[in-house]
Parts: sequence; structure tokens; C-alpha cells
Amino acid sequence: MKQRTRTTGNADASAHGVESVHSDRNNKRATKKMKFQQKLLKFESLPDYMQDNEFIRDHYRCEWPLKYVVLSVFSVHNETLNIWTHLVGFAIFLCLTAVSLTEKATVENLVGRFFSRPGTDGPLMMKMNKKTNGSDAFFLESYLRHIPKPSILHVNGDSDVIPKWPWFVFLGGAMCCMVCSSLAHLFACHSRRFYLFFWRLDYAGISLMIICSFFAPIYYAFSCHPYWRLFYLASITGFGSLAVVTLFAPALSSGRFRSFRANIFLAMGFSGVIPAAHAVILYWHNSPHILVALGYEIVMGFLYAAGAGFYTSRIPERWRPGAFDIVGQSHQIFHVLVVVAALAHSAATLVIMDLRGGLPACDG
Ligand SMILES: [Zn+2]
Repeated sequence: MKQRTRTTGNADASAHGVESVHSDRNNKRATKKMKFQQKLLKFESLPDYMQDNEFIRDHYRCEWPLKYVVLSVFSVHNETLNIWTHLVGFAIFLCLTAVSLTEKATVENLVGRFFSRPGTDGPLMMKMNKKTNGSDAFFLESYLRHIPKPSILHVNGDSDVIPKWPWFVFLGGAMCCMVCSSLAHLFACHSRRFYLFFWRLDYAGISLMIICSFFAPIYYAFSCHPYWRLFYLASITGFGSLAVVTLFAPALSSGRFRSFRANIFLAMGFSGVIPAAHAVILYWHNSPHILVALGYEIVMGFLYAAGAGFYTSRIPERWRPGAFDIVGQSHQIFHVLVVVAALAHSAATLVIMDLRGGLPACDG
């Protein structure tokens, strides 16, 4: 009995020993596997579908388990800044939305912070150029002077209120684009399926932001011309939807179609020249201030065009492959330009809202 017990005990011990050796081995294998999976790869080691930009030489995450993909938002690799540039962009537009929703006099305060009313001494940015000394006093003065702007929400006394929802449509579109982009840069490395899905989500986000960008300025500028408003909004929505359908073709996600994709987005963006010219003609006599909005839109156009230029040319990494893997690659510059361009568009939209609010109600 004793013997048996001892034997059983020994057998248990040895079984336990074997088990622990096994589990040790399994653990080591798992750790090795994880280490391997978390290793950053060079361009040559990537599967075909991930080989997009040969000038980014190293620091690729490739087919990592989802948990590590999620955690990689806080680690350094060649997509870190691509993720964060648009996360910061998302935070900026979220703040704008929160301010617009929570402040008492919402949009008028936003306008008040950046612009003066038509007929006063010009927008804040112009004045900033004129007055460069005593900046603290200047900011305080301009802030205090421009806060009370009742006209923006009330065209004709209290009865005719300018709706704010088109402004929120734009902010929503911008946030959607930024978040889709960040998610795409984070998750596309997980698998071929994710790669195809998330890059198409990114293109859909860009198209949505372009469509939503058109919404507010057209809505406000053509508020007295409902047919033109409907025509422009229907055209850009149709064009945008067509762009999304085209870009969803899996073949167009490849590097070969980089220029084609950039051109589709640019064509969508620059089709805004037509309603912009139309609005300038409509407002020219009554409100020369429309030119300020036009100025911001031109700045936006330049920024988007410059962004598309970086995106397609892959400058500067083309000049020194491998030198910009982590910081300074074309795609990061493109992301920053997109955020700044969207802010320029916000400024233009606020000017148009302010201008519309300062005009009398429609004649007919
Ligand atoms: Zn991107």
C-alpha cells in the first residue's frame, strides 16, 4: 500500500514533472511565437499584398494578433504617426463639436473668436498680420469685441433662425474621416482581409468628409436659392457615392492606383469651384466679405493639392529610402495637411454662416 502510494506518488510527481516540462516548452514556444509575431519586419519580408511603399524600408507590423495590433497604437513603428496625426485631428474636431453643442451662444462665439462682422475691420487673421505687438491685449480686445453676435442665429429678429445642423454635418464628416483613417492605419496590418476592408473604409471616410464639407457652405450660401442648393448638394452626393463605389473595387486599393485615387479625391474637392464661383457672383454686391470665405477655400484647395502631391510622389522618402520610416514620411505630411485644410474649410464655413446671418431674409 505504502509502496503503491509511493509509486503513485512518484508517478504523480513524474507526471507532474513531465507536464510542467511540457507546459514550459509550450510557454517558451508561445513566447517565441509572440516575439516573432511582434517583430517589426523589413519591406522585403512582407507578403505581396502589404508591399505598398518600397521607400519605407523597415518597421512594419505584419499579421500580428489583434490584441497586439490594438496595443501597437502606443508603440513605435512606421504607422504610429499616421495613426496619431488623425487621432489628434479627430480630437480637434470633437472639441469644435463639443464647443458648438455646449456653449450658450455656440456658433456665434466661434465666429466671434475668429472673425469680425462684415463692415467692421476685417477678420481676425488679417488683423493679426497688421498688429503683431501687444498680442495679449489684442487677443483680449478682439475676443471681447466680437463675442456678442446675435445676428448669426437670427436673420430676422427671433423668428428666422439659421439652422446649425449643416455645420454639424461637416464636423461629423470630418470626425468620421479622421477616425476611419486612424483605424485603417492601425488595423490594416492584421491580415489580407483587414487590409482590403480598412483601406476601403479609409477611402469611404475621405469621400464622406468631402461630401460633408460641401454641405454647410452650399446650404448657407444658397439658402435663398433652394433649387441651386438642391442641384449642388445632389450633384456632390451623387459624385461622392460614385467615387466610393469605384474605390471599393479591390484592385484599386493597390499601390499602382495611388495617383488614380488621389485624382478622384482632387476632382471631388475641386468640383467645389463651380458653386464657389456662383456664390461669389450672388454675394459680390451685398457682401464683399464673401471673398474672405473664398480666400479660406483657396487656402484649403492649395493644402489639399499639396497633400495629394506628397501622397502620390512619396516625397521625401523617395529621396532617402529608409530615412523617414518612423518620422517625416509623405503620408504623415499628407495627414497633417488634410487636418489643416479641414480647419481652413471650417473657417470659410463660419464666415459664410456669419455673412448669411448678417443679411436680411430671402425676398421671395
Ligand atoms: Zn492615411
